[in-house]
Amino acid sequence: MIGYYSIYVAIIALVLQISGFPTGNKTYSKLKRPIGNPQLIEGDMLFHPALQSVPRGVAVRDTGVIWTNGIIPYQIDPNYTPERQALIVNTMRKMERLVAINNVVCIQFRPKQSSDRYFIEIVDGLGCSSYVGQSIHEMSSHIVTLNSSSCFMEGMIIHELLHTLGRILLLNNMIITRALLGFYHEQSRPDRDNYIRVLYGNILTDEQRNFEKYDNKFLNTFNTSYDYSSIMHYGRYVFSSNDLPTIEPLQANVIIGQRNNMSSTDILEVRLLYNCSAIGVTLPEINITTARPGTTLPSPVVSSYSNALTRHSLMYNRDDVMNKYYYDAVNINVPVTGTYHFKCISNIDTFGYLYMNEFDPEYISNNLINKNDDDGKNAQFLISHTLYSSVTYILISTTSNPYTTGSFAIEAVGPAAVNFNTIRISSSYNRLVYSWLFTTTFVLINFNAARW
Ligand SMILES: [Zn+2]
Repeated sequence: MIGYYSIYVAIIALVLQISGFPTGNKTYSKLKRPIGNPQLIEGDMLFHPALQSVPRGVAVRDTGVIWTNGIIPYQIDPNYTPERQALIVNTMRKMERLVAINNVVCIQFRPKQSSDRYFIEIVDGLGCSSYVGQSIHEMSSHIVTLNSSSCFMEGMIIHELLHTLGRILLLNNMIITRALLGFYHEQSRPDRDNYIRVLYGNILTDEQRNFEKYDNKFLNTFNTSYDYSSIMHYGRYVFSSNDLPTIEPLQANVIIGQRNNMSSTDILEVRLLYNCSAIGVTLPEINITTARPGTTLPSPVVSSYSNALTRHSLMYNRDDVMNKYYYDAVNINVPVTGTYHFKCISNIDTFGYLYMNEFDPEYISNNLINKNDDDGKNAQFLISHTLYSSVTYILISTTSNPYTTGSFAIEAVGPAAVNFNTIRISSSYNRLVYSWLFTTTFVLINFNAARW
C-alpha cells in the first residue's frame, strides 16, 4: 500500500506542477478563483452580449420577460451519466415542490419540445455557470454549464437554475437592463452595506468587479429583507487573495454561502416573481414505490462497519467557521442498485455526509449528495439514498460539534451487502482526493471547482 501511495503522490505532484498549482498551502487562494472565463460576472453569471455595454440604472423595471407561465423547457447534455442526469431532474422536481403553494405548481421544468422557442440547455463544461434569465433574440437556448466533476451537488444545481429564473428587461424589443430578483447574488443588493462589509483589501485585484452592488432602479428586491441564508449568497472567502475573508457579515454568528437548499426568502422571491397564486396545476402525489401484486420484496441485507474518531483522526473545517471536526472516510460500493440506509450507532453526536465519486476535504460541497445529523435518533445520523452499482461513494462520519472523539459503528441496510473499503491515508495527504486510491479510472480533480 505504501508503494502505491508514493506513486500516486508523485503523479499528483507532477500534475500539480504542470497545472501551475504548487502543492503547499499557498495555493489555497488560487483555488478559490473560478474558471478563467472573462465573460463570467460574479464568478458564475453570464450575460447576453448586448447587455455588456448597457449603462446601469436606466431601468424600466416593469417591462420584463419571465418564462411564460413559469414553464422552463430544458435539454440535458446526453453525455452526462444517467446518475448525473437523474440528479439534475430530481433537483428540478425538488425546486418545483419547494416553490409550489399548497401543492399547486408555480414554476415547472419540463423537457424541451420541438415547438419550444426558448429553453435552457444544461451542458458539461468548465465550471458552474449560467446565463441570467430567459435568453431572447438571437440566442434561443440559454446555457447552464455544470461541470461533471465539480457541480454535481444539489445545492449548486439549485443555485445555477435560480439564475435562469431571473428576467431580462425589454424596451421597444431592445434589451435595456437586467433585474435582480432573488436570482442575482444576494450580496449585490442595494442594501447590502447594512448587512455585510466587503473587505476589498483581501480580494484578488482583477476580481473586485464581482463585489459590485446594484441600485434600486436596477434591481428589484421585492421588498424582501436581506437574507444571509440565501443559496444565492457568496461565502466569506470567495475570491480571496490571502486566505482572509472577503465578505464579513455585520451580524454575529451568521453563516453565509450555504449551498444546501433554497431559503424561505429564496422561495418567496420566486413566488412573487412568477405571481404564483395565479397559475399552476396541482402536482401529482409523490410516488411511493410499492411491490407489484404477487411479488415479494427481497429481504434487506444488513452490513456493518466500525471505526473510531480519535485525536489522530483527520480533521476538516465546516460551515465557514474556524472550528475543526474529526472525520472518518470510507469508500462504499454496492453490487445491486437500490435504496440503502446507513445508520450510525455511537455515544457521540454524529453527523454523516455522503459523496459520489470523490471527496475533497477542502471543497466539502463538491460531489455531496446527502447529509444528515439526527434522523437516526439519539443524536445519530441516518442517511437513506439510492446507490448505483456502477458508482463509488464516500461516506464521511463526523460529529455535530467540533473536536469530538469517540467510537462508532455504521449499520447499512439495503437490497444487497455493502462493501466498505477503509481509506488508509495519512493526514499529510489529507487534501488528496480519496477515491483516487481505489478507483481504476484516474480522474484529475477539478481544482478550479467553482463553489459559487
Ligand atoms: Zn451564482
